[in-house]
Amino acid sequence: LRRNPGETEFHQAVREVLETLGPVLVKYPELADQKIIQRICEPERQIIFRVPWQDDRGQIQINRAFRVEFNSALGPFKGGMRFHPSVYLGIIKFLGFEQIFKNALTGLPIGGGKGGSDFDPKGKSDSEIMRFCQSLMTELYRHIGEHTDVPAGDIGVGQREIGYLFGQYKRITNRYESGVFTGKGLSWGGSRARTEATGYGTIFFLEEMLKVRGESIEGKTCIVSGSGNVAIYAIEKAMAMGARVIACSDSNGVVVDQDGIDLDLLKQIKEIERRRLTSYVQEKTSATYLEDGCIWNIPCQVALPCATQNELTAKDAQCLIKNGCIAVAEGANMPTTPEGIRVLLEAGIPFGPGKAANAGGVATSALEMQQNASRDSWSFEHTEQRLQQIMVNIHRHCYETSEEFDAQGNYVVGANIAGFLKVGQAMAALGLV
Ligand code: NDP
Repeated sequence: LRRNPGETEFHQAVREVLETLGPVLVKYPELADQKIIQRICEPERQIIFRVPWQDDRGQIQINRAFRVEFNSALGPFKGGMRFHPSVYLGIIKFLGFEQIFKNALTGLPIGGGKGGSDFDPKGKSDSEIMRFCQSLMTELYRHIGEHTDVPAGDIGVGQREIGYLFGQYKRITNRYESGVFTGKGLSWGGSRARTEATGYGTIFFLEEMLKVRGESIEGKTCIVSGSGNVAIYAIEKAMAMGARVIACSDSNGVVVDQDGIDLDLLKQIKEIERRRLTSYVQEKTSATYLEDGCIWNIPCQVALPCATQNELTAKDAQCLIKNGCIAVAEGANMPTTPEGIRVLLEAGIPFGPGKAANAGGVATSALEMQQNASRDSWSFEHTEQRLQQIMVNIHRHCYETSEEFDAQGNYVVGANIAGFLKVGQAMAALGLV
């Protein structure tokens, strides 16, 4: 705490992992001797820089950007860039720390990192977004590379932003280095199924959790927080597997549609027109909009937090349980507070933590890197099959690890320990570096 003052979310993420690692150090004392825990909590490198840019009125704007290169024991640093006004070092460090374990769980050769800026993309024109991205990359380019650090998208960073960032990297370096970024468009080195991967992967993980209990997502009533990339594709896959999704949200309110969310309309509003969720109820008047509403008050059997950190509290968890919820899987990073997780686990609700349940996005990014390295392009079906197999493997690995450490079915314990062992043992093997 003294070393990293004020970094609340980072403290929370570290505490959640460390609380589960006691039995690992008893079983593998060499990891304690090697001070792996102390080393893993300290980023290998952190870069903080100024991003000056000019808005459409000709005014000069200044933002701050970050890239935290956390751990490269398993491969190049890998993790998204987030553009949101709430971004500061503590958020990027929490995300980077989680990313280390998540990336280890995928079984693919990727280290952990994260970046972003306090830039707010809401209400900005395309040219403003482009000028900002170009200015950011004019500094970031010297720190990244396909063998060094491979950024991707996150909140506020989709294919448009990745295009501008990648374009500027290409211009400055004079290299068409496809593998330096993932989440690219299909005609310029992207992978099929990457856009869908995080949301789809969360549903594949959820289905495995339900299978253990003799249940399935088919016929279940679900609610999904958020209405961005992860939320939209979690809704799509849940519906394809027979679920009824009746609510989604954004930072201003909640849409409830008892007919089931109209996915085409949602995509039209969010992906094409880039409008707010209030437009949904203007187009579909039978749906309701709850301004500043709490999505977790809506009765459901499955809850999927897919928006942002700490959006599901202990009170929300109690409300979900009271209304008959039987499973929670996190599409977002750390959306459930520590108290919320405790309430769910104590009630015996299967709970899929983000670092396992949303690992499908980064796993498919690693598949994008494979395609870039071999100058190949796989079909949607092939990529989706690989994603599904990876999610099944992550679930099995977490479940078996939870059993091995006397916490059967506790995926928080399973994911933390399985991820930590993989990275910790690699760090020990690489010596004191
Ligand atoms: P998007 O920017 O596409 O969507 C984010 C959604 O969350 C929007 O609906 C947004 O609403 C809402 N949201 C963001 N911040 C807040 C907030 N402070 N309070 C309430 N709602 C908020 O991002 P993604 O879908 O890509 O990311 C969502 C989550 O998933 C994040 O936690 C991210 O780290 C995680 N994730 C994403 C991956 C990916 O592949 N994209 C991979 C793994 C994890 P509004 O428009 O009103 O801001």
